[in-house]
Amino acid sequence: MEYAEHVIDLVGDTPLVKLGTLTEGLSPLVLAKVEYLNPGGSVKDRIALRMVEAAEASGELRPGGTIVEPTSGNTGVGLAMVAQRKGYKCVFVCPDKVSEDKRNVLKAYGAEVVVCPTAVPPEHPESYYSVSDRLVTEIEGAWKPNQYANPQNPESHYLSTGPEIWRQTDGKITHFVAGVGTGGTISGTGRYLKEVSDGKVQVVGADPEGSVYSGGTGRPYLVEGVGEDFWPTTYDRDIADEIIAISDADSFHTTRRLASEEGLLVGGSCGMAVAAALRLAKRLGPDAKDAVIVVLLPDGGRGYLGKVFNDAWMSSYGLLPPDSSGATVGDVL
Ligand code: PMP
Repeated sequence: MEYAEHVIDLVGDTPLVKLGTLTEGLSPLVLAKVEYLNPGGSVKDRIALRMVEAAEASGELRPGGTIVEPTSGNTGVGLAMVAQRKGYKCVFVCPDKVSEDKRNVLKAYGAEVVVCPTAVPPEHPESYYSVSDRLVTEIEGAWKPNQYANPQNPESHYLSTGPEIWRQTDGKITHFVAGVGTGGTISGTGRYLKEVSDGKVQVVGADPEGSVYSGGTGRPYLVEGVGEDFWPTTYDRDIADEIIAISDADSFHTTRRLASEEGLLVGGSCGMAVAAALRLAKRLGPDAKDAVIVVLLPDGGRGYLGKVFNDAWMSSYGLLPPDSSGATVGDVL
């Protein structure tokens, strides 16, 4: 019989799949690392498991403890899943702009969700940052993973994502492309791939137009999970050889094409990373037959059905592709 003892034993070892239709006419081989096949549905399962196990080892998290983190997204799901297995409680703090669906996912795993007003500055006592800080001091045995400053975030990718990609490509990878949020994925995976290839693997970050990584100030963009308005300590500025800025329109059109042309129903940051990978592949030109580009797809598309995959939402931001067969604004609203 072949089975895992528990779902957390299934984190990592995600497959690579070739992007075919999207790369027609391009010379490089472009391979997608499909992170939605992690048991919690995203790349964040990797950091959740590693952060928790390191905190157990250091004694910061003790039996019966409570994990407190300001998150509503994929990191919350990963932490909730790991906590469920290991018997910890979870309290997630999120702003009220977060959809009820997302909060319900966390509750379904047994987590408690504290909702705070969105319309207050971070230093306000009711902001979700302030509330999570306060809860850590008030709850006995509380521990805050802090994915933006926890070295175990990039370390998890140094130890798992990087070696997997090197092994899966037989060391033939020439370029690694990933979106940048906390920077954990690109910093940890990129560092491993640079070390093991003697600096030969080129590391390319994808960033929403307006975010700090591509020289912006944090201007609002719609793609979720990537881009920042500050520089987290989990981002190592020495790893990426280049950062490519991608517009929301490019990110979302590519996301839709991944579903309709490659059968990959993935999130908006995946479209962003693939748009960057395709731009790179084009630039490498017709002679780049030996180039192997690996692009990481962080999560699945089901959480975005009301946004990226919804014509009314897309057209309310003027983002419907010109050739979209979807209804016009007037038809939908
Ligand atoms: N895409 C999505 C959907 C994410 O949730 C995240 C994590 N914030 C990323 C991309 C970026 O990953 P990282 O934080 O490792 O830079």
